[in-house]
Amino acid sequence: MFRLIRSGVDYDYPPYRPPSEAQSLLLRITRGCPWNRCTFCSMYKDVRFEKRPLKEIIQDIETAYRIYGSQPRSIFIGDSNSLVLAPRLFEKILRELYRHFPSVERVTSYARARTLCDKSIDDLRLIREAGLTRLHIGLETGDPQLLKEIRKGATPEQMVKGAAKAKEAGFEVSLYVLAGVGGETGWRQHAEGTANVLNKVDPHFIRIRTYVPAPHTPLWDRIQEGSFELASPETVFRKQSRLIQRLEVSSQYLSDHISNYAPVYGKLPEDRAEMLRTIESALEILKNDSSYHDSLVNKRNLRRL
Ligand code: SF4
Repeated sequence: MFRLIRSGVDYDYPPYRPPSEAQSLLLRITRGCPWNRCTFCSMYKDVRFEKRPLKEIIQDIETAYRIYGSQPRSIFIGDSNSLVLAPRLFEKILRELYRHFPSVERVTSYARARTLCDKSIDDLRLIREAGLTRLHIGLETGDPQLLKEIRKGATPEQMVKGAAKAKEAGFEVSLYVLAGVGGETGWRQHAEGTANVLNKVDPHFIRIRTYVPAPHTPLWDRIQEGSFELASPETVFRKQSRLIQRLEVSSQYLSDHISNYAPVYGKLPEDRAEMLRTIESALEILKNDSSYHDSLVNKRNLRRL
């Protein structure tokens, strides 16, 4: 368990959060992932999923208030899919949060698209109106075959439906794309399927991550046995370029993760040309600079992302 025990302070916090939540107060209302089957993911393999008792959550809110006072401006709620909580319970937790931190401007959580599909729009609105403002949703890819292969547990249609419902309920929607998850051969279908889903949703944010093999996962095993070939840096860039070319969205596109190979950022569609130039420059450097190539390949050894 991830507990902060210091000077008599006992506080449980989410072990993972998006980089954009680095300055946020972290509050854990569930532990682990209720799905926990994606073949590339090792995040919660050693955590049994559970919903934390309300009493414990309120104790943590009070502890956070004692430590930080009313300073926090943003709060991230973990772990991987707290939307599985009963809507009225989630509402109660949010009301308690705002009672202690009335100046907070942003409260966010991870959410699975499948869970959002199964919620009624009224339930989603209830949670939104109680103060959850942004959802971070793992799309990874929009290609139907790849989604099956990585056992994401959602079809492209469900990805679209879940994210669109969240938008309709008033949430800011951040969709995560996992570059490289198609391997060396599946990059075209990955780029095209992903663009199809993103174009239907037009999320507020598109956030790119690059696949980093994690031991003790099914995809890691496939790499070891030779049935999955990791995408080269060139392939990752080509996939990203094709994706950006096909996007018809008004989203912020961000590469805000250490796993990524180049700082490709911008508002679409206006920054598209500049973003594509960044990728072209990186591909040019790759042709002549083996140390750059090696530095990108070395990112496959990152751990605890
Ligand atoms: S990627 Fe998300 S949904 Fe999939 S197993 Fe990991 S935490 Fe769960």
